[in-house]
Amino acid sequence: MKKLLYSALYYCGGLHLWHWLRRRHVTIVFFHSVLPSDENVLNWKPCRTTIPSNTLRALTSFLSRHYTFVSLEEAVAMLRGDIPAVANAMAFTIDDGYMNTRDVALPVLQEFGITPTVYAVSDNLVAPSAFWFDRLDFVIQQIAAAGETLSFGSLELSLNAAMNSEDLRWACNQVIDSSHEMSEDERARALETFIAHWEQKLNASVAAQPAPDLPSATMNALELAEADRRGLHVGSHTVSHRRLSQLSDDEIVYELRSSREHIQQAVGKPCKHLAYPEGFFDARVSRQTRLEGYDSAVTTQEGTNAPGCDLFELKRAHLSDFGSNAVLWSNMAGLNALWSRLRGD
Ligand SMILES: [Zn+2]
Repeated sequence: MKKLLYSALYYCGGLHLWHWLRRRHVTIVFFHSVLPSDENVLNWKPCRTTIPSNTLRALTSFLSRHYTFVSLEEAVAMLRGDIPAVANAMAFTIDDGYMNTRDVALPVLQEFGITPTVYAVSDNLVAPSAFWFDRLDFVIQQIAAAGETLSFGSLELSLNAAMNSEDLRWACNQVIDSSHEMSEDERARALETFIAHWEQKLNASVAAQPAPDLPSATMNALELAEADRRGLHVGSHTVSHRRLSQLSDDEIVYELRSSREHIQQAVGKPCKHLAYPEGFFDARVSRQTRLEGYDSAVTTQEGTNAPGCDLFELKRAHLSDFGSNAVLWSNMAGLNALWSRLRGD
């Protein structure tokens, strides 16, 4: 139904009109992982959404016909009114600081003259290790291959080898969703216990994959500095990727301040932009981010940004393979956010 509506709007010119009416809005695109299109070079394939490099090229090529690409710095300066706005400005941001951001995504984006911003987790600059969500993604696939039943809190799921990547992603999300109510410490402990148990039982883990493991490897300080020299701007995704709104005031200050210092040390440039891990933030978190001297912070809330908007609650559009240009453009133009609001989601 939604896809049909978007296609109708696209082909009757309604989407073009909507886009033109909102030409002063700034669109901030985001994604996490871009992997080589040739899957044979990968140790494993995450069930979490990733973008193959040739798909990224096709998506960006379509967007280049309707948007003017700007850096995040320029986007923020336009929203603040410091520099003249350009019509249909679009900035690219990439979360988590994966090695594949530098080695796979950046060369494709540079073909289109794009200067993306990557949000790095500063703990990984010193001792890179796989994120818990990548380890979870991997073990869920192993549990399914072994036909085992998992239990996590009150959740119990029987997985099997016939499950496709959509089923596996659903199973992953079931575990993640049932951890949301826990405190941050409790959650970290429960997930670590769960993941380590299965890694040991099935004798398979992300850590045991041949390096560099493109789906999970993150950049250390030297690699991040090299990425900066190649034209990637670097922002902060905190010290430890914990959900900021679940932390105490002191912990929030530490996450904001220490990550910023470490990133500045690594790349030798100011670190002025933040992405809230998992999109968790509240008024306390955004106020503290401003006080710590950041220029902006991005959320995972869907939509575009009008001039004069709150720079510490910036909305973004998730880039993915939507299967059609009509759906892609509708998502980028904020129609999906409007659809969700109208439905009361
Ligand atoms: Zn993240």
